[in-house]
Amino acid sequence: MIDAAEIDLAEKLKQYFGFTTFLPGQQQIIELVLEGRDTLVLMPTGGGKSLTYQFPALLLPGVTIVVSPLIALMQDQVERLQANGIAATFINSSLSQYERNQREREVLNGQIKLLYVAPERLLGENFLALLDQVEERFGLSLLAIDEAHCVSEWGHDFRPEYRQIGRLRQRYPQTPLLALTATATEVVRQDILQQLRLHSPHVHIASFNRPNLYYEVRQKQRTSYQELVRLLRKAQGEATIIYCLSRANVESLSSDLVADGIQALPYHAGMAAEERSENQSRFIRDDVSVLVATIAFGMGIGKPDVRNVIHYDLPKNLEGYYQESGRAGRDGLPAQCLLFFNGGDRFKIEFMIAQNGDEQRQAIALQQLQQVQSYSDSHLCRRQLLLNYFGEVWNGEHCGNCDNCLRPQVLEDRSIDAQKFLSCVGRTQQRFGMRHIVDVLRGANTQKIRDYRHDQLSTYGIGKDVSVDEWMRLGRTLLQQGWVGESADGHHVLRLNERSREILKGYQRFELSVLQGTPRSVETKKTS
Ligand code: ADP
Ligand code: ZN
Repeated sequence: MIDAAEIDLAEKLKQYFGFTTFLPGQQQIIELVLEGRDTLVLMPTGGGKSLTYQFPALLLPGVTIVVSPLIALMQDQVERLQANGIAATFINSSLSQYERNQREREVLNGQIKLLYVAPERLLGENFLALLDQVEERFGLSLLAIDEAHCVSEWGHDFRPEYRQIGRLRQRYPQTPLLALTATATEVVRQDILQQLRLHSPHVHIASFNRPNLYYEVRQKQRTSYQELVRLLRKAQGEATIIYCLSRANVESLSSDLVADGIQALPYHAGMAAEERSENQSRFIRDDVSVLVATIAFGMGIGKPDVRNVIHYDLPKNLEGYYQESGRAGRDGLPAQCLLFFNGGDRFKIEFMIAQNGDEQRQAIALQQLQQVQSYSDSHLCRRQLLLNYFGEVWNGEHCGNCDNCLRPQVLEDRSIDAQKFLSCVGRTQQRFGMRHIVDVLRGANTQKIRDYRHDQLSTYGIGKDVSVDEWMRLGRTLLQQGWVGESADGHHVLRLNERSREILKGYQRFELSVLQGTPRSVETKKTS
């Protein structure tokens, strides 16, 4: 424990790190850590969390242990510290036995103030023996847990090894613990406090608002690819990350873009390591401005001038979305975050969820996916939705920097049309796709309708007054919002579900946004 008032922190900050001032919150956290108080820091990426353990580590008498989940990040941080003349090192599985022995010797010789370690190493006998000796010789000053949300199944990046940390905590009860994360939902927060056994902790919550980011959601449809190409042409030269769900999607989208004359590079975990890091560094040094990637890309990438982050496929959860989109505009200048929403992607993700994990994890994943859907469907301020998700109260109705604030959607009660649509699904025995349903509603004269005698149905032609495109939009929205289901066999056969019945019985209203500029009705020709 150190009395922070005794030290000229500003001077030390300058001396060790070359910074003239603290970023918001840093000084307060550092003072608490120096006093030996357990602390949980919730701060968005780029907020300056690392300094809150690196700085105390240098002032405290003993050794600080930093638990960090990503080997690449660890290596990078340690190299940067060493370049600044700070006594840091790491121990992880990338080292040979010889290197590890050498580093352990450095630690035991008192040459190291900050020791980074991967979570899976923590409870190994060798490592515990090392820690015991450190504790005895110099004292363990601080246990810093980076990416602390990894301890929680409710986080977006659960790592079972993190559960071990609680036991380490018990072994060295005198050592204060500092947990840090950029994920701040209430459940994750509670989980961290509990699993890592923080003692009467101070919880520091920074605002997660990123005022310079513009948020927008667009419906993904057949024309979306063209839309994307136009957008990229307009944004020529601006660093842009496009996130896709799978390696296959990354490959096909990046080659389509290249074929359309847009310089784009792929990035995913299935690529050879050299090619991947080559693509990453070409993107970082602005050699190529568009990177098409899976979410494997981005952790710890310090490129401040990313202007656009586009989710071309649906993200799996809002935390992930916030992190990934948050890679835009780190320089504080305007940047945009665009999400293409597609109900079909949702089914794909649901399918993936059903393949993995136990029942509890599946239930969590489905709930997280539903939150992405709600965010996308909503006509409320996107910023407000995101911040509320992180438990932050947002003052002010409109942020003025999201699609819904700039182009408020006017909603209209379309329950009657929804009933027509759903009853048509029912009358055709739930055996057809959306296009056929719309043809029946519109009273079209197609071979399929004649074959199935669907011109005899009571719903035949009851929707002539609404255009095909508008019916399709209504149908998609019903599907996207779960008011009707779809077969999972790839044939997109519409199926009624519990929620459909609520609309059909009139228990639920169905609202649809009014499209500006395009009339939804069509002139019905008078057939005298
Ligand atoms: P986080 O871990 O919260 O994502 P980092 O610790 O990586 O954030 O810090 C983000 C950036 O801010 C880094 O480039 C870091 O060097 C810089 N930084 C941190 N503290 C300060 C400070 N007091 N003054 C200026 N820059 C700082
Ligand atoms: Zn807004």
